[in-house]
Amino acid sequence: MEAMQMTVQKVLVTGGAGYIGSHACKALAKAGFVPVVFDNLSTGWAEAVKFGPLVVGDLLDQDAVRAAFAEHQPVAVMHFAALSLVGDSMKDPGRYWRVNVTGALNLIECALEADCKKIVFSSTCATYGDPDSLELTEDTPQAPINAYGKSKRAIEDILRDFSASHGLDHVIFRYFNVAGADPEGELGEQHDPETHLIPLLIAAALGRRAALTIYGTDYPTPDGTCVRDYVHVTDLVDAHIKGLRWLLDGRGNRAFNLGSGHGFSVREVIDAARLVSNGTVPVIEGARREGDATSLVSGSKRAQEELGWSAVRSTLPDMIGDAWKWHLGRGFNR
Ligand code: UDP
Repeated sequence: MEAMQMTVQKVLVTGGAGYIGSHACKALAKAGFVPVVFDNLSTGWAEAVKFGPLVVGDLLDQDAVRAAFAEHQPVAVMHFAALSLVGDSMKDPGRYWRVNVTGALNLIECALEADCKKIVFSSTCATYGDPDSLELTEDTPQAPINAYGKSKRAIEDILRDFSASHGLDHVIFRYFNVAGADPEGELGEQHDPETHLIPLLIAAALGRRAALTIYGTDYPTPDGTCVRDYVHVTDLVDAHIKGLRWLLDGRGNRAFNLGSGHGFSVREVIDAARLVSNGTVPVIEGARREGDATSLVSGSKRAQEELGWSAVRSTLPDMIGDAWKWHLGRGFNR
């Protein structure tokens, strides 16, 4: 009997050295794909690239992107690389528009040149703005209130345009607040400087920073602090594998929310962190952060019903507990 020729399918993962991208690479490798990371290492870590090759390059450099497609001939792209901080985006919108939108446009054009017509795109609940509804569905109007959310909505529009003109198939995932770390301890969230709530709480609990400042206590929520929907990074990347298979099966364009469906206030997250750390977490009440919405909670029915996805690890104790273990470890080195 002739030996079967197995062709390994490569997936180009932009931002694969970053927090979510590196977890996605691990999930891709487990699912039998080869993740080829394309990353400029501006915020990512070479050490986080453990599951396939690393191409160090910038999405603003179209020749570098073109060369990566020519060398690796991926069957699909997962596009994580982006600037993603709400507060920063309000201070320096030009950078957000340039890096996020021009970067995505370069990527899409190079993918099409290489006849790679499937892309899984990381969008955000920030595209919904500051909605009145308590639970957001994919049909909630997108009216972003910060430059980060606006840049992501623009990329969604670009995907839809190129889909109509060039047959680019896309799955858009609108993330809620991603948290936690690889339960096996291989990967985790490490930003420099750190701005996200859960890693900052852990740093405060470990005495690595003085205190956590709550950004606003006068929001119209039960305890006055912002409400967010936290989703475990391993649940999130599991959806990406399902989204990739959706595209490879030819099921076409779709947008999905990815959240747990449960909203927690900043004070509730602080209480959960105190339980996990079994100690004190010093907290200061501060002013609102520009660009923050009051409440963002996902309706994730569509992902459940159509992708067969569910958030199985997205409880606050699991997310904070997994992140806690990662932060106790040694972390990545530059
Ligand atoms: N937050 C806070 N103090 C901090 C960092 C964040 O009170 O030092 C709040 C922030 O206002 C938001 C929530 O925690 O309501 C989650 O913020 P994060 O920056 O983690 O994620 P984002 O929602 O901006 O994606």
